Amino acid sequence: MEVIRSQKRTVSNDVVSTPTLPLYLTAPPMEVRLEEFELFAIDRLRVLKGVSDGLARGRNPNEMDDLVETLWREHMRLSDVSEMINKDIISHFVLRLVYCRSDELKKWFLSMETALFRHRFRRKKIEEQRAIVGEFGLPYKAVIGAELESLKERLGLVARSLGQSDVENIYYKVPFEEVPDLVAGRRVLLQKGYAFVAGSQLVSLVVTQFRSHLSKALILTNRKWTTTIREREKDRLTPIVEALSTSYLGPDYSQSSEYADISLKDIDQVSKSSFPLCMRHLFEKLREDHHLKHGGRMQLGLFLKGVGLKLDDALAFWREEFTKKVGSERFDKEYAYAIRHNYGKEGKRTDYTPYACSKIITSAPGAGDHHGCPYRHFSEDNLKAALSRMGLSSRGMEDVMDKVRNKHYQLACTLTFEAVYGASCDTGINHPNQYFEESQKILKSKTPAAPV
Ligand code: SF4
Repeated sequence: MEVIRSQKRTVSNDVVSTPTLPLYLTAPPMEVRLEEFELFAIDRLRVLKGVSDGLARGRNPNEMDDLVETLWREHMRLSDVSEMINKDIISHFVLRLVYCRSDELKKWFLSMETALFRHRFRRKKIEEQRAIVGEFGLPYKAVIGAELESLKERLGLVARSLGQSDVENIYYKVPFEEVPDLVAGRRVLLQKGYAFVAGSQLVSLVVTQFRSHLSKALILTNRKWTTTIREREKDRLTPIVEALSTSYLGPDYSQSSEYADISLKDIDQVSKSSFPLCMRHLFEKLREDHHLKHGGRMQLGLFLKGVGLKLDDALAFWREEFTKKVGSERFDKEYAYAIRHNYGKEGKRTDYTPYACSKIITSAPGAGDHHGCPYRHFSEDNLKAALSRMGLSSRGMEDVMDKVRNKHYQLACTLTFEAVYGASCDTGINHPNQYFEESQKILKSKTPAAPV
């Protein structure tokens, strides 16, 4: 792929004729506009993040099929089929570049792309599935004639143990190590080192191939990235590629809304009812110590701005606490400027936006700092104590801790939200201000309207 500034993209006919589920075996000979390079990748990232969320929530295969279809329709579908295929291919290869850069990134991308492929494949008609097997060049032969007859009785036993009434029409003979999930689930007949895979189980064969191909491709891409592309593209593509893996894809919460409009007099009560754990912790520490270090002041200060605290109220709020510790003169000299700065009233007059979870989770609080994400940065005991203060039952707490141990911090926060408010949050928590607004929506819908 060659990335160009901006003009009509040229595409080879080969790409347009690719089946609707590409295998991404080689980068296609096409030109990509710079803006598409980033926008297509962001759309695919939204799909992969949705897949990751669905898997972490333990959705079953049929639910995952539906989820993938919905995500694809929302973010990747275009009315022109050939344009949609191109978007699919371009976005995959861009993200390959983004996610080849460390083992952790590679692992995540490999798992999510494989899951995406699996569930898209499962939705294809049998003819298209066979075409994909052919395109992979898989050397599996259908078992026919006398060999099939000789196996029918034992194939029937396997089929019935899986709840099917009879053997299928087509079986493939495959080295057993290529279908580990079917062997582990006792869903195939094994004989002399071969597994006999029913046509309806083709997905397992193809997904194993897909994963192995992508895994090798990521290693090669990493080599190209570090030896040539990173340096050659340092002024153009490299900054986009480096930003994409940590990019936050939702609203920036820079404007106050119907559900983000707090004033000084409500702040203590609202902090208990609607702040996510990261902000609750900072708020409590500020009230306790009358001080927060820089990272904490930024994280909490911008959050409060995003939930609608006006500049005058923000100055009064920080002044009330800090003057107890540093005195009024020092507060005016050292701290008030930074608060006005965050509201775009000083310096370059940039209107700074509140931090998203991805930024908070990847921050590195040092000794004496209270910023960061408690699900990531608290010890297990401290986190459990904090969750218990939020009213979580021991069952709810175990569910949350399970996600934390598996490093699904935002999902742990989502489960906390669902336990606290007794309502589901299907989009997952991606931003502390989103947590706040969702919580206010629920609480306000439960409050009876005041009599007229
Ligand atoms: S997941 Fe996000 S909102 Fe929740 S505590 Fe962590 S940073 Fe805050």
